[in-house]
Amino acid sequence: MKDQTIEDWSREDLKNQWLCWIDTIDPKVSLKEGDSVVFPKKRIVVQAEMTPLVKSIFARWERLSPSERFSAWEQLKEATKEAMKDVLPSCIQCGECCRKGSPVLRVEDLELLRTEKIPWSALYTIRSGEPVTSHDKGEVFFLVDERIKFREKEGSRECLFLDSTSSLCTIYEDRPLECRAQACWDQSGYLELENQPYLTRRDLFSHIEVLWDIIEAHRSRCGFERLYGLVKKLKESTAQREAEEIASKIIDLTSYESHFRSFMAEQLNIPFDILDLVFGRPLERLLELFGYRIRIEKDTKFIEIITQEGPFHEEA
Ligand code: SF4
Repeated sequence: MKDQTIEDWSREDLKNQWLCWIDTIDPKVSLKEGDSVVFPKKRIVVQAEMTPLVKSIFARWERLSPSERFSAWEQLKEATKEAMKDVLPSCIQCGECCRKGSPVLRVEDLELLRTEKIPWSALYTIRSGEPVTSHDKGEVFFLVDERIKFREKEGSRECLFLDSTSSLCTIYEDRPLECRAQACWDQSGYLELENQPYLTRRDLFSHIEVLWDIIEAHRSRCGFERLYGLVKKLKESTAQREAEEIASKIIDLTSYESHFRSFMAEQLNIPFDILDLVFGRPLERLLELFGYRIRIEKDTKFIEIITQEGPFHEEA
């Protein structure tokens, strides 16, 4: 590709060059005086690809003469800029918002659970005290009240319900309130959700007395704050012995919690795949938010550092 000229570009090369060129455009396009939006790149691409001129340039590319290619390349860039300015006032399902994180549920979304449009196993609880990023400003803060969120795909922030191949939402008609309000070209719909209360475990489980008591007991014995307090001390410790003692307390806490979860799940017949909703994610897994993980060697547990960075966080 390095020594290639436009005459040598295949259709695939054209696409790559085009994507690189889109990276160089300022994505802030004024909609009206004083308003600006930042388009996800994917949206620009999908929106431009919907225009007849862009479609036709890609379709004809391999048949164009060298001079026609130069002119087609300029036309392609112009058509892309036009597509960016002419914002379609609706979601075109480019999937980019869904790749940046999954939605947090509001009380209004309870109906989706009641009517079984959304399986409970698709949810998890972010406990109070966990570090999260605010959706609108991107600032990290520690949650005062818990949130319930859709799961993301393993190792990514992509929503569980996004079809990665087609970029389409697989529950589009039944997507939750936040997804319906979200618009990458306009934040106002999302900001209007301010008065919509968040769904919590209280809404889901407080009427089941036995379960609710267990959730409360879990919260007081294995709350995220305990883990956070110990991790903070571990990070601040300077003496080896002190660090070992704190590490041992962390291992005790996470082991106790793990035992608590499996014991209660067995006693109350709680399906394994909704444990992250009922109790939040295991403390052992949350340890990774701070760059640590528990390693087992010859039946003994150790804490090892995976990265000095962190805390890492979810969007909420
Ligand atoms: S529920 Fe659908 S629209 Fe909402 S983030 Fe997931 S894939 Fe996207």
